Amino acid sequence: MAVRTRFAPSPTGFIHVGNLRSAIFTYLIAKKDKGTFVLRIEDTDQERYVEGAVDTIYYTLDSCGLLWDEGPDKGGEFGPYIQSERMEQYKKYALQLVEKKEAYKCFCTPERLVSLREDGHAKYDKHCLHLTEEEVAQKETEGIPYVIRQKVPETGSTSFTCQVYGEIKIDNKEIEDQIILKSDNYPTYNFANVIDDHLMNITHVVRGNEYLTSTPKYTLLYKALGWDEPTYVHLPHVIKEGGKKLSKREGDAYYTDFIKRGYLPDAIVNFLVLLGWSPENNQEKFSLTELEEIFSIDRINKSPAVFDIKKLNWVNAQYIKELSIDELKEVCMPHLVNSGIIEGKDESWIDSLLNVFKDRISYGEEVIELYDEFFNLEFKLDEEATEFLNQEGVNDTLIAFKELLIELENFTAQDIKPLIKQTGKISGSKGKMLYMPLRIATTASMHGPDLPQVLALLGKDTVIERLNSNIK
Ligand code: GLU
Repeated sequence: MAVRTRFAPSPTGFIHVGNLRSAIFTYLIAKKDKGTFVLRIEDTDQERYVEGAVDTIYYTLDSCGLLWDEGPDKGGEFGPYIQSERMEQYKKYALQLVEKKEAYKCFCTPERLVSLREDGHAKYDKHCLHLTEEEVAQKETEGIPYVIRQKVPETGSTSFTCQVYGEIKIDNKEIEDQIILKSDNYPTYNFANVIDDHLMNITHVVRGNEYLTSTPKYTLLYKALGWDEPTYVHLPHVIKEGGKKLSKREGDAYYTDFIKRGYLPDAIVNFLVLLGWSPENNQEKFSLTELEEIFSIDRINKSPAVFDIKKLNWVNAQYIKELSIDELKEVCMPHLVNSGIIEGKDESWIDSLLNVFKDRISYGEEVIELYDEFFNLEFKLDEEATEFLNQEGVNDTLIAFKELLIELENFTAQDIKPLIKQTGKISGSKGKMLYMPLRIATTASMHGPDLPQVLALLGKDTVIERLNSNIK
């Protein structure tokens, strides 16, 4: 059977990077087999619904290139693709299960359920399972609200196989007679996902491993409904170093947090695919098309995947190197504007700045840090730099350079460059003894990007002023 996978986000806000990692794996499992990637919006938890969240889902998948073949906006043979539009079906199947004695109506009041829990019952005590048909009919005529609960066998065990975690078996007495349909006719997630995946012909259910413990309930539901189970692929958690969770507060939980800081969608996808999966060789940079060829379920890892920001920065830097200056400008612009760096500067100054940074920058927002590091520093020499400037001959070198620069009308990198050589000729210094004093006296640093470019960006006045302050 052709592979059909689905990404089934709830429209509750921004997309968490862990969830995006699931979307990428789900997409790749389908594409590897030239199968179908389905988008389903799980909106039956009305309380958590956030206005605009569906558009955020579209935007995120779209910008990452995870194009869905079927979905609410695209349609397809297996709709509806929005859970709340399938309400009638949930009710129909829940009642079918009641009919088959695989589920039952439960009239317990919220107060009774609370007191059960207070009395130390971890699970529902199956009270309504023992109502007679007459009692049920009587309560219904009285209009007492009810939910429908799954009837879990009291003995034996249930097992299923996950492609990543292997066979998992659980004693049935551990499983609660969970609610499948609420009194307002809304299904619970634990019921809806089974109905949806079956009706949508999903062959591979790919999701986070937090669903491992609920899966036996689904296995029982598939069995009760007489349906084949899909193949399960559970994915390891994404955590931070030290086991901490990615968090909204620290700004590392959502895809949009990273986009705002100037990370590139392709790089994020590349980085995320390595969270829980590895290729056969040591390759670390892949396009989505390449991944569609090489991705495989058997190389998904069980152990938690560590979200290492340094690695993300490295991956992103590789993608930034491939951008044109105009593309890089687009990524850095919001940060250049917000920080005030480009106030009063013209386009060509911005282009030169980005040219200097292109091979050093990891993400857009870093432009501020790099600028501070190379251009805006408090001009302070450390001991090593001071010692260097105190060497014999340095003063003459600085004087020669300054005099040449003063005469220079076009203060561009191109025009500054030959003056360095000329300084050497005039002062008789060469190699390190030529370049280093010039760099230290103008930037206070012993290393940095191409010096003529840096000097041009600093501007004539600043450069002359700095040289003067170092000439004895
Ligand atoms: N709506 C669920 C979530 O966002 C989907 C889980 C699943 O893939 O079944 O976690």
